[in-house]
Amino acid sequence: MKIHIVHSGYFKLDGGAMFGVVPFTMWKKLNPPDENHLCPWAMRSILIDTGDRKILVDTGMGDKQDAKFQSHFHPHGEESLMSSLKKLNLSPEDITDVFHTHLHFDHCGGSIVKNDDGSYALAFPNATYWSNQKHWDTAINPNARERASFLKENILPMEASGQLKMIPVEDNYEWLPGIKIRISNGHTEAMMMLQIETDQGTFLYAADLFPSKWHIPMPYVMAYDIRPLVTLEEKTKFLEEALANDYKIIFEHDPFTLAGSLKRNERGRIIFDQEVQV
Ligand SMILES: [Zn+2]
Repeated sequence: MKIHIVHSGYFKLDGGAMFGVVPFTMWKKLNPPDENHLCPWAMRSILIDTGDRKILVDTGMGDKQDAKFQSHFHPHGEESLMSSLKKLNLSPEDITDVFHTHLHFDHCGGSIVKNDDGSYALAFPNATYWSNQKHWDTAINPNARERASFLKENILPMEASGQLKMIPVEDNYEWLPGIKIRISNGHTEAMMMLQIETDQGTFLYAADLFPSKWHIPMPYVMAYDIRPLVTLEEKTKFLEEALANDYKIIFEHDPFTLAGSLKRNERGRIIFDQEVQV
């Protein structure tokens, strides 16, 4: 089993929303904002090559939205989802599975393309598309807090294609040999992280529970999260487990650091140790 990093470009989000209750005077030193307090964030997908399956995990925001939408999020960077796959010698037709940690636009926008006639189609025509029923129900009937993140054009065409399948909502569910589903309910309903066994060790693709290395300390919880106190419990649980078992964490949104290891500091807190290769 091999994991390849698939860069889907960068976008910008309000630093206050990303760092939650942490004051501007502190977070501005970590990820320096522009004049509108927007910070750059990566959209970092992964490709899991099991030998017979090519599993793409999350797909960035895509490029089918109109100019007004794009102007809010400033997509930028040399790399795109498709150019990154091409570097791995993969065409869209080669992808067997598209796994969605959750259906916020910056995680699934690249899964659906818009045709010239305005209709929508799967970007990966031969792939099985994966979500879970509990999250799906939230995504198609969103609460007011998450409404702007769940875009119908990203979501409904998956179901219409007939290629959408649901994964059981069960923490530690072994989806495929060496790949476990880990459930988190703080950021959104039934987000699915992946725990992946490779020759280089165990990796946790942490989606929006640990979107960057800066989100490892407890106060750093995104303002987007629907249940921040649950996020705190889940962060504690996963950090203890990850440190005890030497998991490396892949950061989906960290603009600088792909993946890292953990250590305990002299005050007993679990902190980022160092960047690791995937
Ligand atoms: Zn999210």
